[in-house]
Amino acid sequence: MNEQYDVLVVGGGLVGAALALALDKQGRRVALVEGQGESLDSLQDGWDARIYAISPANRAFLAGLGAWPDMARIGTIASMDVRGDLGGQIAFSAADAGAEALAWIAENRWLLAAIWQQLQHASGVTVIRGQRPQALWQAPQHAGLVLDDGRKLQAQLIVGADGANSWVRQQSGIAANIKPYGHSGVVANFACEKPHGDIARQWFLGDGILAWLPMPGNRISMVWSTSQPEPLLALPAERLAEVVADAGGHALGRLEVLTPAAAFPLRLITPEQVIAERVALVGDAAHTVHPLAGQGVNLGFQDAARLAAALAGQGDCGQWLALRRYERSRKEAVRTMQLTCDALFGLFHAKQTPGLAWLRNAGLNLTNRLPLIKRQLARHAVGF
Ligand SMILES: Cc1cc2nc3c(=O)[nH]c(=O)nc-3n(C[C@H](O)[C@H](O)[C@H](O)COP(=O)(O)OP(=O)(O)OC[C@H]3O[C@@H](n4cnc5c(N)ncnc54)[C@H](O)[C@@H]3O)c2cc1C
Repeated sequence: MNEQYDVLVVGGGLVGAALALALDKQGRRVALVEGQGESLDSLQDGWDARIYAISPANRAFLAGLGAWPDMARIGTIASMDVRGDLGGQIAFSAADAGAEALAWIAENRWLLAAIWQQLQHASGVTVIRGQRPQALWQAPQHAGLVLDDGRKLQAQLIVGADGANSWVRQQSGIAANIKPYGHSGVVANFACEKPHGDIARQWFLGDGILAWLPMPGNRISMVWSTSQPEPLLALPAERLAEVVADAGGHALGRLEVLTPAAAFPLRLITPEQVIAERVALVGDAAHTVHPLAGQGVNLGFQDAARLAAALAGQGDCGQWLALRRYERSRKEAVRTMQLTCDALFGLFHAKQTPGLAWLRNAGLNLTNRLPLIKRQLARHAVGF
């Protein structure tokens, strides 16, 4: 016997779990299938090296779901200071966009726990943990999954929120272009000697991109996009702190490692479409971007918000026109972000082209002197 739902969401990461909550608010019956068995709603001590710069638009989305975490663990980005490899610089602030903050820094674990804690009160969501689907079928009127334990689930729509290597994407026959950057993102948290002043700092180093993001207190979180992650990962904590402080020109004085460094391979993933018959993709299943603009999860939360909006008031959640509305509403924003990050990455890594290093630094300096463009950059950062 098939269990009947309106929507099956595969993947209970940040994006899938937030979407399940948003659909619950519409009175939908949702099954959320998460492959990991362990509880995602509890918190351990210590700092999480995986952090996100959440845009004001997505803070509002999460707050609307009752899933914005305790502010004691949230950092604020009041301004940004971006440096090129030959003296170029651009700085802009929330004030340029008339906003309270450019973004808020939240740890992955705390954000996930805040969403999963709300799921406990979502009466329309059936959580199935520690199970993966083994088969997916699509038909004109409905679609379904068969789980590891043989359970059969049927619904009007299946949503793939199962990350960059999406099983749902593959099973529903959606092809994806995958371009490895040849870089990894190395992440770690540090205590810093000098106050960070709520400034997010970024350096285009020629052979990598280093970002320091302000966390609560005198702490920062680092994301270093580099083609050589192994030497950094192999360093003892004290030496890693020295190398990172040095790469950032000792802008915050001495650093001390709070969490060991970890690395993630970076890829650009562009599926040919994000919908198929009775199927929609959200989050990293639908796109990945280089983390240099810190926008990966922001795009994903907006997918969840837009998909929920496209389905609102629909009798049939898998109706093709509603899915097309969702796809159209996301196409431009996602493509623009992917192209912008990809172009910036390319611009700062094309060392061989004569004059390019000068040009890219001059470009940063010029933009820094143009208040209108700066205001646009700041408005883009806050998600207007
Ligand atoms: C180094 C680095 C730094 C980053 N920094 C930022 C940043 O500063 N800001 C930002 O916005 N983004 C950042 N990102 C991107 C961000 O991490 C992702 O965009 C985000 O985690 C995507 O969330 P998701 O829910 O779509 O996917 P995931 O977080 O990958 O979640 C997928 C979920 O699906 C589950 N799952 C997978 N397969 C199955 C299956 N077959 N069946 C059932 N469950 C399954 C998994 O267990 C997981 O829980 C960064 C990424 C990297 C690599």
